[in-house]
Amino acid sequence: MLKVRDLTAFYGASQALFGMELSIEAGEVVTLMGRNGMGKTTTVHAIMGLLPGRSGAIEFDGHRLDLLSSFRIARLGLGLVPEGRQIFPNLSVRENLVAAAANRGRRPQPWTLERVFEFFPRLAERQRNGGNQLSGGEQQMLAIGRALMTNPKLLILDEATEGLAPLIREEIWSCLRRLKREGQSILVIDKNVGALLGLADRHYIVEKGRVVWSGPSQTLAQDTTLQHRYLGV
Ligand code: ATP
Repeated sequence: MLKVRDLTAFYGASQALFGMELSIEAGEVVTLMGRNGMGKTTTVHAIMGLLPGRSGAIEFDGHRLDLLSSFRIARLGLGLVPEGRQIFPNLSVRENLVAAAANRGRRPQPWTLERVFEFFPRLAERQRNGGNQLSGGEQQMLAIGRALMTNPKLLILDEATEGLAPLIREEIWSCLRRLKREGQSILVIDKNVGALLGLADRHYIVEKGRVVWSGPSQTLAQDTTLQHRYLGV
């Protein structure tokens, strides 16, 4: 479904990605792991067309994303839940969700307001509240709900559990497990290695802008040396 080859990216003169390679098959849950500043967010931004200085080949469902604008990329079915959530604070929960639906692709079993509210009952209760009146956990649920409203073929989450209390984090993980069971393809960036090992099929460890290891959960779970070396676990 997604294939990234030899991806490089620059911030001005400073190179952040040095030939990133990754792929995701339909229905898979895949992670990007690695310490701070290694290039995970940059990889996602480059895929989404949010970085001007990039090169390499990015294919998604038969389309070359590296030739398209970020708007068109989103329309092809990549739904990003960005770091820091970035919901509209002055719109209500409902308005945040409806606004996202304007940019949706046509797909079977589309996400509706009702389906998002069934998925996140708390958003249903808070639907008339402003984005700025929500707790951190509720904002995160809204950010995920908003991405789902675009009917993504691939959902991408960048640090979705950061700064949340343990119970709320667990709610987010449980929501992702449920999405996985429903066949949703997901790319996740997060620092919680234990939760990622339980959720995902495969992992890429990123170090200084390139992939230094990739493999399935079972292999990574058993390799504590690898975890210690690259993830600081
Ligand atoms: P984190 O978990 O801290 O978000 P990350 O693995 O996602 O880490 P990136 O944010 O992709 O890392 O950063 C990769 C490199 O690019 C780092 O060296 C970082 O300092 C640099 N970088 C990121 N954003 C910018 C920017 N807007 N301008 C210049 N350099 C940047």
